[in-house]
Amino acid sequence: MIAHSRVVLEEEDLVSVSEVLRSGQLAQGDVVSSLEKRLASSIGVGHGAAVSSGTAALHLSLISLGVSQGSQVILPSYVCTALVNAIHYVGATPVVVDIDPGTFNMSAEETKKALSDSTAAIMVPHMFGLPADMDEILSLGVPVIEDCAQAVGATYNGKRVGSLGYASIFSFYATKLICAGEGGLVLSDRAEFIEQIRDLRDYDEKATYSLRYNYKMTDIHASLGLSQFKKLPSLIRKRREIARVYDDGLGGVVKRTPFVPHGREHIYYRYVVLVEDVSKFIEDMRQEGIECRRPVFKPLHRYLNLPGCPVTDDVWSQAVSIPIYPSLSRDEVYRIVDTVKQIIQAR
Ligand SMILES: *Cc1c(COP(=O)(O)O)cnc(C)c1O
Repeated sequence: MIAHSRVVLEEEDLVSVSEVLRSGQLAQGDVVSSLEKRLASSIGVGHGAAVSSGTAALHLSLISLGVSQGSQVILPSYVCTALVNAIHYVGATPVVVDIDPGTFNMSAEETKKALSDSTAAIMVPHMFGLPADMDEILSLGVPVIEDCAQAVGATYNGKRVGSLGYASIFSFYATKLICAGEGGLVLSDRAEFIEQIRDLRDYDEKATYSLRYNYKMTDIHASLGLSQFKKLPSLIRKRREIARVYDDGLGGVVKRTPFVPHGREHIYYRYVVLVEDVSKFIEDMRQEGIECRRPVFKPLHRYLNLPGCPVTDDVWSQAVSIPIYPSLSRDEVYRIVDTVKQIIQAR
């Protein structure tokens, strides 16, 4: 069976983690600081604070921005529930908008229509590794939290995503590009914003009481994150190579291969194609020993029983993610291409 995703762990990752275990300093310490500095400098942002997950990063970003009850936060429907959870944690109201049919990212036009006097922030996930329409969204004049959980290393007009908005968040969950098991990080050029996140993530030894969290990352997780991060360029290069084989092999076979607007670099966290009858396609692929998934399990407007997001519905009913990760062998990649062709052409 070719799994839909697989962690890529090499000897240096194991060495990096065992060094921390041998040191006896397991909780948040110097290795967490190193990861923060490394990510901030590589993305080109002034300050970083590591936390326990991408969800925690979103939650603390909203608090640090002052988003609370009565505030609205705009986000796309076509994304996982982590974002809407964070909005609900602070008691704010999610305003769910439709996506752009070309990029599967949030529609700048729909975002503009959703603005109100209560809009406190816009959460912009760069879906599947492709940067969203940042210029248009930033021009709306509302603080933007970039969600780079799927797009670390992607660029938009030559700048790395995560350096464009008010703040940005990252996830190091096991299936993400950089895997630490679990983990998250917030970046921002605003020192006080990041200082507040550092304060909120750790409850102990504070001069005065206020509501805080235990959202710290451990040095164990950070050591794995760091050793993975050192390999990011080659991890992205391998994903791009596989994407090129898929582009060549599947263009004209599936209804659509990924579209990448000019000026953006896709890092192919997911390779999403459009097919007719996704459920049957996934089942047919499984029969052939290849695990495919819907790239978003269920759109937010459906979970929340909100009125239609027609583009999201249309994409959701056709989009499927085929395996793409650096440890796929050449033979596996070609087997995937041949199997997709076979299944589509037999229809
Ligand atoms: C994975 C993911 C998150 C949540 O990250 P966790 O570390 O799992 O909490 C948030 N946003 C997007 C776009 C993601 O893909």
